[in-house]
Amino acid sequence: MEIFKFGGASVNSVERIQNLGNLVKEYGQSPMVIIVSAMGKTTNALEKVVEAFFSGKKEEAIQLFQAIKQQHINTTKYLLVKEFNPCFAQLSDFFTEAEWMLHDQPVREWDYYYDQLVCLGELFSTTIISFYLKEVGIPNQWLDVRDLIRTDQNFRDANIDWEISTNQIKQQISKYPKEIIVTQGFIGATDENESTTLGREGSDYTAAVFAHVLDAEKVVIWKDVEAVMSADPKVFPEATPLPELSFQEVLEMSFYGAQVIHPKTIQPLFKKGIPLYVKCFTNPNTAGTVIHKKQPKELPPIWVHKKSQVLLELKTQDYGFVGEAPMRALYNWLENIQAKPNLIQSGAISVQLVMDDGSRMEKLAQIAGSLFDVQVMKQLELLTIRNYTDELIEKYAANKPILLIQQTPKTVQILYQS
Ligand code: ASP
Ligand code: MG
Repeated sequence: MEIFKFGGASVNSVERIQNLGNLVKEYGQSPMVIIVSAMGKTTNALEKVVEAFFSGKKEEAIQLFQAIKQQHINTTKYLLVKEFNPCFAQLSDFFTEAEWMLHDQPVREWDYYYDQLVCLGELFSTTIISFYLKEVGIPNQWLDVRDLIRTDQNFRDANIDWEISTNQIKQQISKYPKEIIVTQGFIGATDENESTTLGREGSDYTAAVFAHVLDAEKVVIWKDVEAVMSADPKVFPEATPLPELSFQEVLEMSFYGAQVIHPKTIQPLFKKGIPLYVKCFTNPNTAGTVIHKKQPKELPPIWVHKKSQVLLELKTQDYGFVGEAPMRALYNWLENIQAKPNLIQSGAISVQLVMDDGSRMEKLAQIAGSLFDVQVMKQLELLTIRNYTDELIEKYAANKPILLIQQTPKTVQILYQS
């Protein structure tokens, strides 16, 4: 059993869906499960529909939805001949469901509507792709993942009920032992059949859940990059493809802010030792990256660069030491507002936090004022180098107005003004 996952960029046009068909023909073999995200920027577009709907702009919401609907119909027209009618019928059911909702008034919370509407992106894309594969002679079974992945009611960031999901996945998939299954990433459903989503960019995670439950041999994530890179090539000329990474290294990289793979993806694979391959969908013959349990012997330096950083300096109001109580309060606030600082450093009477600029940072600055004197410094950049060398620090720190350096034998973080 193999799991293929295609992200939004790999299905964002007629040509790319045709390319997906070729990849499945060439590299796929049943039994397999294909997990797909929403096409291109559909999720963002659906978020706009939710915003309009929830702020009472019904007409605008309906108009925005019409545009998304039309885009998908156009793609379907280009791709399908024989299969056009059944595909259109299935899409129409989803369209109607959404339009019904949009004609109502919102009576429940934002997050609930978000999930009911945003989940459609994946339902549309997989419907089109499943019929397209049939059209080009690749038999497959489309499944509604909401019958397979059971979650709690924590809309927008739902937690998977592993026991029920495992049973449902095994039971449903075993009905089609020889088929290619096509289903949605990112979404699930509650025990009351309400749709839920697993957090933005959550399709990788879905692929890992299926792999775990089905004891897959491997997961292949098809991306628009040659491999996982050691840095953003647009910023760092030293960037090189990384042929091999350990699960732990990927977690470290995403902890420091690299957007490699959704970090939730790692645990289900790690537990069963299932390797994850990142392959390039436009150039499948390049080696790509394998992520597995084994620690590669040697890794080159890996850079993570974050812009729009903010330094919060929290000083105790009475010049008391920053002891357990203030730290406990700080971590409680962080948990409550679900903020993850990119760096924390504490001294005698102050704590320094580096965070992404945005509403979470604002909130923290505000709450922290109850216990600390708070100073905020904006427009900073944070450079993290794993496996650094002294030469690299020198090279990148030279001539920069540095505010803070944090260093361990493996990782250095440098905060400086833009
Ligand atoms: N379509 C969702 C998103 O854009 C999930 C994903 O792409 O993984 O966040
Ligand atoms: Mg995506």
